[in-house]
Amino acid sequence: MQHRKNGSMLHKLLVGARLRCPNCETGDILQQGATLKMHCPVCQVRFERAPGEGTGAMMIALSLVPLPLILLFFVLTGIFQVPWLPLVIALPIVLVIAIVLSYRHARGIWLSVIFLTEGLFTDAEKPYTPLR
Ligand SMILES: [Zn+2]
Repeated sequence: MQHRKNGSMLHKLLVGARLRCPNCETGDILQQGATLKMHCPVCQVRFERAPGEGTGAMMIALSLVPLPLILLFFVLTGIFQVPWLPLVIALPIVLVIAIVLSYRHARGIWLSVIFLTEGLFTDAEKPYTPLR
């Protein structure tokens, strides 16, 4: 199997964020919802080798989503003089919704991180042995 490690890291992260396989850049990575497919339908690399790899995606969502909302809070209160109390009530709700909505894309970014660090392999290249 041809592994495509060419392209910048940012490009591969964006491929993952677009929910495409970071190896072939064409296969869909998700089933319905945020469930990762077992293998890429195009290049057959295995997406998840160890249980709990979705934790990295949650870490990405939790670390990337709050920053723009915090900046928005300061822009709205500082520049546009929006009263801060309604924002303090509304922003946590918006934050939870944004984290939930961004989780699918965070899964893709995390898969790209795995591709860039460990690599993604087909079962023929690297036999799958579940950790139990
Ligand atoms: Zn693929």
